[in-house]
Amino acid sequence: MFQKILIANRGEIALRVIRAAREMGIASVAVHSTADADAMHVRMADEAVCIGPAPSPQSYLNIAAIISAAEITGADAIHPGYGFLSENEAFAQALEDHGITFIGPTAEHIRVMGDKITAKDTMKDLGVPCVPGSDGGVASVEDALQVGQDAGYPVIIKATAGGGGRGMKVAKSAVDMETAFRTARSEGKANFGNDEVYIEKYLQTPRHIEIQVFGDGKGGAVHLGERDCSLQRRHQKVFEEAPGPCITPEERAAIGKVCADAVARINYIGAGTIEFLYENGEFYFIEMNTRLQVEHPVTEAIFGVDLVREQIRVAAGLGLSFTQDDLKINGHAIELRINAETFPAFAPRPGTITQYHAPGGLGVRMDSALYDGYRIPPHYDSLIAKLIVHGRDRTEALARLNRALGELIVDGVETTVPLFHHLLAEADIHTGDYTIHWLEKWLEREHGA
Ligand code: ADP
Repeated sequence: MFQKILIANRGEIALRVIRAAREMGIASVAVHSTADADAMHVRMADEAVCIGPAPSPQSYLNIAAIISAAEITGADAIHPGYGFLSENEAFAQALEDHGITFIGPTAEHIRVMGDKITAKDTMKDLGVPCVPGSDGGVASVEDALQVGQDAGYPVIIKATAGGGGRGMKVAKSAVDMETAFRTARSEGKANFGNDEVYIEKYLQTPRHIEIQVFGDGKGGAVHLGERDCSLQRRHQKVFEEAPGPCITPEERAAIGKVCADAVARINYIGAGTIEFLYENGEFYFIEMNTRLQVEHPVTEAIFGVDLVREQIRVAAGLGLSFTQDDLKINGHAIELRINAETFPAFAPRPGTITQYHAPGGLGVRMDSALYDGYRIPPHYDSLIAKLIVHGRDRTEALARLNRALGELIVDGVETTVPLFHHLLAEADIHTGDYTIHWLEKWLEREHGA
């Protein structure tokens, strides 16, 4: 087992990894930018190293500085968290070359799944159902129009290197195609340095259902059911739950097996998420994330497992601590992503926290790096906390969520907490009756946003 793990990340996820390591008797090293000198992950880790100035390209994305920090402190493994370098093939490769273990999949698997066209081809070959659309990349407006005509409008044009909801444009009809095609390409180029795009049929009433998988790197793999992340704004998740309110045990077992078998066949190692759109009882693959997801705690809650601990175990060659048969769902869990943003405009508003009180009690988990007096730096993501609740069933989880949200105090900055108070008053949220388009429509109708 590793003696010391460096965490190449910040905020709540850095704390999350430090906690798992500490429970396993493993020392932790935090890295931080100058803007994060006072951050909680720096205080909580056993050691901390400053790796550069505030802008992430010079600190949290600075591969050379991170490897130096690992070498100076004698860390034998690096956990990348999510975002930043977590799906960076060059980083995984550089660690392999330096004899430091990357707590995640191989550089090769990151490469294959990081390009959405290659990922889709691979999944199709492995028997995973995909959204109908173009066969690979589409290079010209003429070809795009042909795909639109064959698949039937509306269609969505997606950058193969896209992520975080960027590089996607919908064409409602042939008239929109040229603009949508060119915009998706230029967004892909500007944000990800790659202008290759592909086209999918745009599904009108799907839910976002994703399957958590775990490979042991030795040809074995399990699945940990699904998460429903249908409540999204600008293709970004805000409310996630497990199990999915509309998924039957039979559907779960069937799609879960398809996913576990697929990753087992490619000898995948570590945690992964296979994302689907789900419509009229059918699953359509959209992408695979080769890392721990922001919303992993809902899966941990219903299965009673620590996914970061398992990541560390498999990276150390110990295999998983459970088998598929050991995994039984217990109750229902919901996570809210709380951002330092205004509501309903969702404009980022970093600032100083004058008072912070986390909710507690049975079935409540607060993953956050906030503290009284903390100054949120303006340089990073606006996620400041994740509130996770667990109940015996969905009704209990929702009541607990309402209660916990009432206890939460975050003063000094505006947050997206009001959004959740409003949502919990909506009948559709209680019945679980929503698609990926519900939240945007609701925001437009109720808040003109
Ligand atoms: P990203 O990597 O940017 O997260 P994804 O491919 O995972 O992009 O898609 C993100 C979200 O965009 C999905 O959860 C869904 O809301 C929407 N989306 C993607 N593909 C389609 C599609 N074919 N039809 C309808 N919505 C889609």
